[in-house]
Amino acid sequence: MGVQIALAPGDGIGPEIMDACIRIFAAAGVTEHLDFIPVDMGERVFAAGDARGITDEAVETIERTGLVYKGPMGTPIGGGGKSINVTLRKTFGAFANLRHFQSLPGVDTVFSRAGVPVDMYIVRENIEDTYGGIEHRLTNDVIECKRLISAPGCDQVHHFAFQTAASLGITKVHCAHKANIMKMTDGLFLERFRAEAQHYPGIEIADIIIDALCMNLVLKPQEYRMIVLPNLQGDIVSDLAAGLVGGLGFAPSANIGDHISIFEAVHGTAPDIAGKGVANPTSLLLSGLMLLRYLGMLKQAAIIENALLAALEAGIHTGDVKGKGEPVGTDAFAGAIIDRLGTTPKGKEARPVPTAATPNHTPPVRPHVNKLMRTFETVHSTHCGCDIYIGTTITPLELAQRLERIAQGTAFKLTMISNRGTQVWPSGSPYTEVVDYYRVRFELRDPAVMLGQIGQMPTIHLLTKVAEKFEVTDFQPLKMFDGRPGFSRAQGQ
Ligand code: NAD
Repeated sequence: MGVQIALAPGDGIGPEIMDACIRIFAAAGVTEHLDFIPVDMGERVFAAGDARGITDEAVETIERTGLVYKGPMGTPIGGGGKSINVTLRKTFGAFANLRHFQSLPGVDTVFSRAGVPVDMYIVRENIEDTYGGIEHRLTNDVIECKRLISAPGCDQVHHFAFQTAASLGITKVHCAHKANIMKMTDGLFLERFRAEAQHYPGIEIADIIIDALCMNLVLKPQEYRMIVLPNLQGDIVSDLAAGLVGGLGFAPSANIGDHISIFEAVHGTAPDIAGKGVANPTSLLLSGLMLLRYLGMLKQAAIIENALLAALEAGIHTGDVKGKGEPVGTDAFAGAIIDRLGTTPKGKEARPVPTAATPNHTPPVRPHVNKLMRTFETVHSTHCGCDIYIGTTITPLELAQRLERIAQGTAFKLTMISNRGTQVWPSGSPYTEVVDYYRVRFELRDPAVMLGQIGQMPTIHLLTKVAEKFEVTDFQPLKMFDGRPGFSRAQGQ
């Protein structure tokens, strides 16, 4: 019996391109070593009324095999159904998304014409950030999305990035972030990047603010070999990078976890061309090659990649690709690759063919409980106040006067009111436009005496007093961690 892999063809163009990839795998002898087990997930499962978009049998197969090869899946827009793609990565702990973007022969791009080669890896954190999807409507006018970044979550992705860079011989890794604005969340992502880099003295590091990175990628993509990013920023930059090498049809991706890994095309279900037999299977095929390499089947991966490159070099391409000559359909493109198995492209792109050909994979052992990940275990934290979020349409000054009266006789004083993150009291500008959602900050009147002594109950009592008079939408204790504030300041504070 070969290595078992859960196979989900996907929605839209998914079945067409998956069929093409499996044909190529079979022709290259790959399927002698691998057993693809079909699993049911995606639009059909959503339509059958399962809001998870995945059947119990599919979950069981994935947990048992530890491997998924999947086509794109549609997400119902609006309503309760969450993206099955995101659910899979998060549920099974596939914490790092690795994508490879390379110039390909026969694929006409701005950079190929200018003779500028692109060959970069993007490592995107896959679980946290706004992709927690933790969203609430707070007031009539305001909706919130919580952005969570954890130290162990950062460590997992940075460790993976440096390990991968080392194994690929990459000597410089960039961390892209927005730590100048999100000083605490992106600040942590950057801090943990620098900490992990200490273990790799042979790899140079640099950090870059995400907006500058986007400009640089368009101006001089050849300067980047590996970029590691938080989830949302990584998602956006990945598509930008796909554009540099000819589009989404050429972008493979692997979602790697400690136990379960998912290999999938980056693009979506392309409903506009589904069923027409014209979709480009390259992205899904290259993702399959990442799977083969992950399993150690380096020889078959190189043979198939050389055949793909030879087909592209010969000018054979699907309709989404800007290239010479008439486009062909999905099946003909797959056939052209199969015809070239065992050949290499003439240009310098030819991949060396290693000898390793047998898969090596140990299926995961199902854990009894969820693993608790911890990084900073000895931190000392003390309560020093709270932020209370209030839904109201009164003015900042009126709000401040009423809250000061409420705080009389408590251990806390009102120190700041902000609206959409900008301070509007005690100082601020009347030009700052406000909405019906304020953050009001209470801090200890006498921190020198009280710090470390109050615990959380006094802030809960204060919250109760405020809640008697105002509509409270959220509450956040303020804490010091090893003497450093665990909260940000408002803009203008
Ligand atoms: P899309 O990637 O499906 O399509 C964007 C454009 O690229 C379309 O014009 C499409 O025809 C073209 N395109 C995409 N893949 C192609 C291919 N292999 N060959 C030729 N042309 C291709 O993005 P979208 O329209 O925003 O999303 C459609 C659906 O896909 C949505 O339900 C979305 O949620 C889902 N989606 C899934 C994934 C995934 O499964 N990982 C990723 C992105 C979007």
